[in-house]
Amino acid sequence: MEQIITCINCPVGCRMTVQISDNGSFLSVSGNTCPRGAKYAQQECTIPKRMITAVIPVRGSSVPLSVKTAEPVPKKLIPEIMSELAEVTVMLPVHSGDTIIPDVLDSGVDIIATRSLP
Ligand code: SF4
Repeated sequence: MEQIITCINCPVGCRMTVQISDNGSFLSVSGNTCPRGAKYAQQECTIPKRMITAVIPVRGSSVPLSVKTAEPVPKKLIPEIMSELAEVTVMLPVHSGDTIIPDVLDSGVDIIATRSLP
């Protein structure tokens, strides 16, 4: 099976052709200009991952806190992580980079603050 995907690692946006076996295994990729594209293609066709960004409420503040995953997480976990984030309220002060939820859903990835609130 052949799949056409676009690399999202830089603005060039190389269109790549990925060969996938009948059982869904990655076989090869062409069309990438650099090794980052090949790595992305393999990941996208096996365990696609994305960064998550969100805002959560802060107790005693009308300004919400922006947060993100410290690294990309498997796409299939996004709905569950968003549900987890919907249950969280943080206390002041918060510093940019603080861990808000460690190892969210046992993914090995932390949810971290992306701004400071005094
Ligand atoms: S393959 Fe390399 S050059 Fe092409 S979009 Fe991806 S990162 Fe950019």
